[in-house]
Amino acid sequence: MTTIRTESTALDGLEGGEAYVDALRAKYKAERDRRIRPDGSAQYHRAAGEFGYYAADPYTPRTERDRLTDSVEVLVIGGGFGGLVSGARLRQAGFESIRMMDEAGDFGGTWYWNRYPGIHCDIESYVYMPMLEEVGYIPTMRYAPGEEIRQHAVAIAKRFDLYRDAVFQTRVTSLKWDEPAMEWIVETDRGDRMRARYVIASSGTLTQPKLPGIPGIDSFRGHTFHTSRWDYDYTGGNQEGNLHKLADKKVAVIGTGATGVQVIPKVAEDAAHLLVFQRTPSTVDRRDNHPTEPAWVESLTPGWQQARMENFLAMVSGEQAKEDLVQDGWTSTARLQRKMITGAFHTTLSDEERERLDEIIDFQKMNQIRARVDQIVIDPSTAELLKPWYRYMCKRPCFSDSYLQAFNRSNVRLVDTADFGGITRMTENSIVVGDTEYEVDCVIFATGFEVGVSGAVSGTLPVNGRNDQPLLEAWSRGPRTLHGFFSHGFPNLFHLGSLQNANSVNYAHILQEQAAHIAAVVAGAREAGASYVEPSAEAEALWDQVIQENALDNYDFKVECTPGYYNREGAPSPMTSYGPGPVAFHRLLSQWRDESLSEVLVP
Ligand code: NDP
Repeated sequence: MTTIRTESTALDGLEGGEAYVDALRAKYKAERDRRIRPDGSAQYHRAAGEFGYYAADPYTPRTERDRLTDSVEVLVIGGGFGGLVSGARLRQAGFESIRMMDEAGDFGGTWYWNRYPGIHCDIESYVYMPMLEEVGYIPTMRYAPGEEIRQHAVAIAKRFDLYRDAVFQTRVTSLKWDEPAMEWIVETDRGDRMRARYVIASSGTLTQPKLPGIPGIDSFRGHTFHTSRWDYDYTGGNQEGNLHKLADKKVAVIGTGATGVQVIPKVAEDAAHLLVFQRTPSTVDRRDNHPTEPAWVESLTPGWQQARMENFLAMVSGEQAKEDLVQDGWTSTARLQRKMITGAFHTTLSDEERERLDEIIDFQKMNQIRARVDQIVIDPSTAELLKPWYRYMCKRPCFSDSYLQAFNRSNVRLVDTADFGGITRMTENSIVVGDTEYEVDCVIFATGFEVGVSGAVSGTLPVNGRNDQPLLEAWSRGPRTLHGFFSHGFPNLFHLGSLQNANSVNYAHILQEQAAHIAAVVAGAREAGASYVEPSAEAEALWDQVIQENALDNYDFKVECTPGYYNREGAPSPMTSYGPGPVAFHRLLSQWRDESLSEVLVP
């Protein structure tokens, strides 16, 4: 078999020719095949029931409060960026009675829960952090630290007076439409039975921590927690590091995804010993973070953030853009992202030519990523294990200038588990891989989240609309929505998220556009004196047809990818997003608001 080279000589044009390309393909397939597990997504445990400890809130003590039986105009479920921007836009439109609700103890969503050391945004903060101009804030760094982003969420809430009427540590348990009153009856796990005229559900996609189904995981008697519930009492320190209580500990981190890549360098700095248990290496490219430059800030003119967000979105979607304002690892790999996420990308090439070109560009990019491992990691066998063998967007790309370097430390050891489909088992005091046992004091699970949709869509939150019809019964043959946001038979109920619409890597931007759209619809209803908002069954059917006809067909790409949550562990579902991509989708929404909004307003 042709040797797979990663030296820079192999980069330009992959001069090994067809044999080299075939060898790479075969290598990718072999690496994928040894990771595919028959139990797929079922290999994971939900952090609930006997594993509920892993999801408990370590940040805010629970406070008791009286049951609520009042009525609000708008209930927003979810205090992350989707919910916050929905609330803010409604406030701007003059709504007074807004109740924000979250299971967490404060606003922030992802950034409330994830406070692990090393946490940073990996999308440029100037395009990621919402409403910078409205709040009057400039991030301190190009890729802001997590705590700064969390505090920005709090600042948005304060700026738009969203703490007023807010309830935290509260989970909605049922939504029932009361037709005579034209209101939703909202029940919660706090015994509330409140009412809301409009309900906006924005409860996140990657929120519920998951644990690997490792045999014996429940027998481990050392200390253990999930990265999204970091235990600083045990480790000491804070998000910047200084985990001084680990100085005499042997620590295991399980997982090397985007979280692992940020956490591992910080634990490596302070733990006596760190064992990193890897199943699939991430792609780790240059990060190049730096403080925000005052001269750049001086140069900004009103409207700069929306323009920058739109430019970033256009770049990563492969749209025509005059200039690349952000110029980072995401915008330089736009062509590769199209395969997986955004759709769009105009080209005159035939499908076959384009696929061929995409694959070559992908091989070149991945060769650079693998060559970077060789440049940084001193021990050749460790370097070999850290090289990813799959197409670029099969897993979430990572960017770090300290991750690979951590493996050059004498207190850090990489344990590869790929040959065994992951960790073999856990005992009272150890992790076992194959026949080798590693004793540890502490196990930190950087093993990710259930890929969710809101409870309303997954069924964990029962929703009964007109004539008491359950939402999931109405959707028994798949989701039926207009633009992914609202449904016939479920008046005044809106969903934010990835459902029959368009997505992108800057998910915060996607949520902002969704929030602005939904707020405009609700405001339009109030202005028109509408009794309620509801799309017709015909409008839903037409949208479903648009989605089906335009769907981005990336099934083959996904199914050949190494397993992970991007492809449902090797069993991808058919694409149900808007194929022309997010830029075209946002244009379509804007046009719809101008021309057709009145069609969903029922007098
Ligand atoms: P991931 O799901 O991406 O990673 C989970 C890790 O756990 C993988 O490395 C996985 O290996 C490993 N794993 C799972 N089961 C086992 C097992 N039995 N034995 C050994 N290893 C195992 O979760 P993350 O929390 O890293 O990231 C989730 C998402 O959150 C990201 O994709 C990103 O969207 C977001 N994120 C964003 C950040 C930002 O800065 N904006 C930062 C961090 C996360 P394998 O790959 O083989 O399945």
